[in-house]
Amino acid sequence: QVVTRFAPSPTGYLHIGGARTALFNWLYAKHTGGKFLIRVEDTDRERSTVAAVDAIFEGLDWLGLKPDDTVVFQHAREKRHKQAVAELVAKGRAYACFMTQEETEMAREDAREAGHALRSPWRDRTPTGAELEQAHVIRFKGPLGDALVVPDAVQGDVTFNTKDMDDLILLRSDGNPTYNLAVVVDDHDMGITHVIRGDDHLNNAARQSLIYMAFGWELPTFAHIPLIHGPDGAKLSKRHGAQAVGDYQSLGYLPEAMRNYLTRLGWSHGDDEIFDDAQAIEWFDVSGINKAPARLDFAKLGSVNAHWIRVADDARLVNLVMAELIGTGHKEAPDTREILTRTLPLVKERAQTIVQLAQAAHFALVKGPVPLDEKTKNLLTEETISRLKRLHENVLLWDNWDADYIDGQLKNFVENEGVGFGKIGPVLRGILSAGHPAPDISRLLASIGREESLLRLKGGLF
Ligand code: GLU
Repeated sequence: QVVTRFAPSPTGYLHIGGARTALFNWLYAKHTGGKFLIRVEDTDRERSTVAAVDAIFEGLDWLGLKPDDTVVFQHAREKRHKQAVAELVAKGRAYACFMTQEETEMAREDAREAGHALRSPWRDRTPTGAELEQAHVIRFKGPLGDALVVPDAVQGDVTFNTKDMDDLILLRSDGNPTYNLAVVVDDHDMGITHVIRGDDHLNNAARQSLIYMAFGWELPTFAHIPLIHGPDGAKLSKRHGAQAVGDYQSLGYLPEAMRNYLTRLGWSHGDDEIFDDAQAIEWFDVSGINKAPARLDFAKLGSVNAHWIRVADDARLVNLVMAELIGTGHKEAPDTREILTRTLPLVKERAQTIVQLAQAAHFALVKGPVPLDEKTKNLLTEETISRLKRLHENVLLWDNWDADYIDGQLKNFVENEGVGFGKIGPVLRGILSAGHPAPDISRLLASIGREESLLRLKGGLF
C-alpha cells in the first residue's frame, strides 16, 4: 500500500509551494488507494510555534487535504530518535565526536584542502567512559568516497559523491536529533513508501539514503518536484504576490479552484486545464510531474477560479460574498441575502474571484434614491423625464420580475415609444446603477428588485 506524507516545519504560514507538495502527496495516495499522512516537523523548538501549526492546518483544511491517520508531531518522538541513533552507534555507523567549534572549523579547512567534506578525527576512535561525560555530538559515519546514485521518480538517477558529504551530525550536543535523522526514522516508522517534496531537499535525499542503508531499511521512492517560479521565471518570492494559502482565500479564490490550478502547476494531463477532484485523482501520477519548474500564472489561476465560481452552488456563493462584504465593512441589512440571491447568478459570469463577485453586486445593495452623476443629469431632458414617467407607470403593471420578462417588457416599451433603446438605455443605467459597475439593464432591474427599481427610477425626478 502506498503511504505518502506532507511534513511541514511549523515556522510560518502554509506557503503555496507547500500546499502544492501536500496536494501532490494527497492526490497520489488517493490515486493508488493508499494513505496520506501529515507529520509536523517541530524539532526546531526555537522556530516552531503553535500559531504556525494552526495556520498550516487552517490552510490544509481549507484546501480540503485531510490526513488519513493521526497527525504525527516529530518532537514527541525524540526518545525514539535517540534510541535509533544509539542503534547506529552500536552498529558502528555513528560515533561520538568531541570537536569544539574551533576544532571543527579547522577540520573543515583541512578537509577543504584535501578536497573532501568534513571528517572528524573521532571517526575511528572509541571514546572512554570519562570522555563520554564530555559534551559531544553524534555524527554519522558515512562512506568516504564512493559514488552514490539516488533514484528519483522525477529527476531520474541523481549521482552524488560521498567524498563531498560531511560526517553528518545526527544528535546535537543538547541531545536533540537533527532533521535528516528524524526524517529517516519517522518516514521509516510511519511506513512511508513515497516521499514527494520540493527539490530543495534533493541533497538531503542523498544523506538520508545513506542513513536508510546504515539502518538496513528499504528506501522509499523519492520524487523531488521543482519549486514554483514566479511569472518572470525567478523563484517565487514576495514580490510576485500572494505566498500564503490564506492570502488566496482572502483574495477570493475557491479551494476547488486552487486544487485544480495547483495540480496543473508542475503536472499535466494533456491539455486538460479544468478538472474536478475525481478526475485529478484518476489521472494523477508521479510520472506526469514535470522536471522543469512551473510558473505561477495569475491570469490562468483567475480563469480557473472563474470557472469554479460559475459552477458553484449559489447559496454557497451568497455566504462567501456575504463574508467578504462584512469583512470589508458592509453592514448586513435584513434583505441583503435576498438581494445577493437574486443578483449573484446574474453577475457571476464574469467574476474571477469572490472579491470581484462582491464588487459586482454592490450596485444592487445600495438603497435608493441614489444621487445622479453629472453625465446622467445632462441626459435628463424634459422629453426623457416624461418618458421615464411613462416607463415608471408601465413598470407598475409588470406582473413578473425575472430578467427575461423584464427584457421583453422593456423592448415593448421602447417600441411603443417609437424610439431605439439607445434613447433610454444610458440614462436608465445612470439612474439605476447607483454609480457602480452593473450588468445590462434587464438583469440590473431583476437584481435590485421591484420596489428598489421603482424607487431608483423615480429618484426624486418626479
Ligand atoms: N520539514 C521539511 C520542510 O518543511 C520537509 C521535509 C520533508 O518533506 O522531508 O521543508
